[in-house]
Amino acid sequence: MTSADALQPTWLPGLHDHHIHLLAAAAALDSVKCGPPSVSTVEQLAEALRAAAQQRPPGSWIRGVGYHQSVAGDLDCGLLDRLCPGNPLRVQHRSGARWTLNTAAIDQLRGTIPAALLDHPGVDLLTGRIHRADEVIRGLPPHPDTAALERLGVLLNSHGVTTVTDTTPFVSAADVAPLRALTARLRITITGSVQMLGQDPPPGLTLGPVKFVLDADDPPPWDDLVDQIRAAHAAGRAIAVHCVEADTLALTLTALDAADGGGDRGRGGGRGRGDAGQSMQNRIEHGALIDVQTIAELARRRLRVVTQPSFVAERGDQYRTDVDPRRRADLYRVRSLLDAGVDVSLSTDAPYTAPDPWAAIHAAVHRRAASGHVLSPDERITPDQALAAFTDHDDHDDHDDHDDHDDHDADHDRPDRPDRPDRPDRPDRSDGIMLDRPWTAARRALADRSADATVSQMVIATVVRGRVVWRR
Ligand SMILES: [Zn+2]
Repeated sequence: MTSADALQPTWLPGLHDHHIHLLAAAAALDSVKCGPPSVSTVEQLAEALRAAAQQRPPGSWIRGVGYHQSVAGDLDCGLLDRLCPGNPLRVQHRSGARWTLNTAAIDQLRGTIPAALLDHPGVDLLTGRIHRADEVIRGLPPHPDTAALERLGVLLNSHGVTTVTDTTPFVSAADVAPLRALTARLRITITGSVQMLGQDPPPGLTLGPVKFVLDADDPPPWDDLVDQIRAAHAAGRAIAVHCVEADTLALTLTALDAADGGGDRGRGGGRGRGDAGQSMQNRIEHGALIDVQTIAELARRRLRVVTQPSFVAERGDQYRTDVDPRRRADLYRVRSLLDAGVDVSLSTDAPYTAPDPWAAIHAAVHRRAASGHVLSPDERITPDQALAAFTDHDDHDDHDDHDDHDDHDADHDRPDRPDRPDRPDRPDRSDGIMLDRPWTAARRALADRSADATVSQMVIATVVRGRVVWRR
């Protein structure tokens, strides 16, 4: 940065993290990291849990996150009992799909959870493994408190995040209610699951698409799936489907065709021209593996892909071990999607990657794993493309206070954006962030492959609804 640059702070639109889990991200702030890179061996895991137990009152819950089987194999309660005998402990696999409990935690689970829930097919009390059963886990301590949510809100604001889409498959408005603590800091759109259809969100939160989590190994009954998609669309809501495996993506495309009649009618891509005239665009969440033939299918259906380049930076070395070399080019595509005309939004999926859009933008630009290896370099995009994918706001039509605060006349020095004639530029003038340098200098910093944490500290002020919510 030249000294002249330093004199020219720049306004940009606020950042929109299009896929995040706020409650889990707040809980993660006080959780024990149980996987790489912090913890790589069973000895390190034991030490991390021992330290956590010492820092807490005796007998209090410990919540572990980020576990990967490269640390100590497939976890079960016997191993967790040996590593952590004195506290109830639950450890989440970094995929987010599975929790493993030690015996003290299982005992408390039996006393806390309605007996009927223990019959959930994902619950195995013998091994302590609870697979894809959020409704079972949700009732367990430790719950993120208001202070943890506030810390998360400040952290997101400090990175310039003004808007989020929380893609947790909530089942009831009551589950979502704690997020109201964050509405002064963030504009929040929630997805919720199909069980939440028909329920109003708590005041201050906006409804987005309906989240579907499909397990390709154990798919829901076909007719139920198609009916649920139709129900979402009939309610004027798009759908957002968790698609990490290629099988799930294929299932989703087939189900969408069946739900929408297979033709042009109401493919969810109407954006104001849909079946019932609703503005909706169905979304593929993650798109972790998209084969080359499917790219055109996504474009044809006008689906939006909401993906997370930080997985490539944070887990890229693991993918080189775990993912079939023939499929590695399919991992977390961005550039090939954009080139094919697919709408792409970026996000962090925090807490599953760091809640830092600048780290994600840097990852999208470089695709470098910790080892320095670059994964599918053809999928790299420019800082301008990455920023644009973090600043679009058309998930939702909540411009509740659009007419307020016009006095906040942020002179958005917008970077060049990809040419999107079908996406009218709708910056919300009441949200914005100030960088400590002009965009040209920020772009240079982001294009520097060895850029360190300073790219995350370019934001010096964040404004939401015309109010300064954070400043350095
Ligand atoms: Zn997610």
